[in-house]
Amino acid sequence: MTTTEAAPATSTRWTAQWKELYDEVITTGLCTGCAGCVVTCPHDVIGYEHEEGKYIPFHLEEELGLDNCIHGEKGCTTCTRACPRFRNWEPAADLHLFGRQREPDEMYGIWRQLLLTRASDDMVHRMGQDGGLVSAMLIWLRDHDYIDAALVSGVEDDDAWKAKPVVVSTTDEILATAGSRYTYCANPLAVRDAKDQGHDRLALVGMGCQTSALPVMWDRKAGKVSRPFLFNIGLLCSKTFDDAIFTELFEAKYGLKKSEMLKMNIKGVFQIWMHDGSYHEIDLKECHGWTRTGCLHCPDFAAEHSDVATGGIGEDNDWTLTIVRTELGEEVINRMIADGSIISRPAQTDEKAMKLLRLLSIVSRRRWPEFADAAPAIGVPPPKKKTPSAASPAGH
Ligand SMILES: Cc1cc2nc3c(=O)[nH]c(=O)nc-3n(C[C@H](O)[C@H](O)[C@H](O)COP(=O)(O)OP(=O)(O)OC[C@H]3O[C@@H](n4cnc5c(N)ncnc54)[C@H](O)[C@@H]3O)c2cc1C
Ligand code: SF4
Ligand code: SF4
Repeated sequence: MTTTEAAPATSTRWTAQWKELYDEVITTGLCTGCAGCVVTCPHDVIGYEHEEGKYIPFHLEEELGLDNCIHGEKGCTTCTRACPRFRNWEPAADLHLFGRQREPDEMYGIWRQLLLTRASDDMVHRMGQDGGLVSAMLIWLRDHDYIDAALVSGVEDDDAWKAKPVVVSTTDEILATAGSRYTYCANPLAVRDAKDQGHDRLALVGMGCQTSALPVMWDRKAGKVSRPFLFNIGLLCSKTFDDAIFTELFEAKYGLKKSEMLKMNIKGVFQIWMHDGSYHEIDLKECHGWTRTGCLHCPDFAAEHSDVATGGIGEDNDWTLTIVRTELGEEVINRMIADGSIISRPAQTDEKAMKLLRLLSIVSRRRWPEFADAAPAIGVPPPKKKTPSAASPAGH
């Protein structure tokens, strides 16, 4: 497999199509299920499986078999231009956003400010998973005319824990979709609904695998689908779980029914609050067996290509760890602090959070396989030999 073909920003002609995407990303286990290829395909021939254990794209036309595309044979290359795991995606996104590649020691990507933040509005803070920053930012971006709507994760009407990509444009909708679901939700898929609703200035909220898709699309000129995205909010992430974890582990072993769950979080352990007021902790090691396949090779803990990346590691549960990455992200965060929409303090005051951020970023980068483009693994220190008493990192 070739791993060195340059992005179209250089003079090399970009010829890779679905055939190469299938061969190099989908069948090798690099595919995260982000749906970047699905939403950009101008011929609508890429479908997406939402079913348990899947979350992967597939070709809808079988004319040339599952592994080739007639439009690709005729010169269409859009899907590989949109894929944030195809060939040299990390340098392409870094160069596009920051004008330089990350230094080998920049384990959690390139940043401008590290903060702990929380929404000043009590309701927003309460509804948020951690400090409510993401929801506060969406409301602020809309109120200040940066965006019309955002692509986020809602839930199915009949299942409060089955995540589905949705468009939100009002404060009520933003708050109704706050909080974290720890199963996968390909939020970019909601772009079609946004278009149908007439929204063409969008924010994306998504895991790192999804937020890297935007700068990759912009850099590789993937076409008009990428243009409505004006703000990119990342969620820190070590993994997502298969939906089967609810029945096969939480219910089968602990008797915790999905329909009776109120809130969940991951802080070293899987925390579950039930509607009856009870609280339960489940060892993360027990959950590992339900890790979604698309996460197993993912090197990006810190949503390294978002405008602002957000997470919940640290001493306090009710603050959002905030990695301000781009100039635009900094403009928005600074204005939100200045007008009192959020309160903030330097994240460096929380040593535990800083250590975990680096450690969990390293752990994720170590998963990137040797057969793929080398960039995400550059500078990653090898694992230390385990002593019998060494504890595993206490992140999500
Ligand atoms: C699957 C998952 C794994 C995570 N893992 C980590 C981790 O390992 N370490 C860490 O520090 N932080 C992790 N986070 C981030 C953390 O849980 C919070 O989302 C983040 O701190 C922002 O909190 P907030 O209160 O500012 O956001 P809120 O105001 O609560 O907004 C959260 C936003 O995330 C969206 N969302 C919820 N679930 C999903 C989903 N499954 N897929 C896509 N979008 C979703 C919501 O629609 C909402 O817009 C994870 C989040 C998710 C969803
Ligand atoms: S990583 Fe995303 S863009 Fe790439 S093949 Fe998978 S779903 Fe498509
Ligand atoms: S670990 Fe998170 S960022 Fe990586 S592929 Fe899985 S969901 Fe995406």
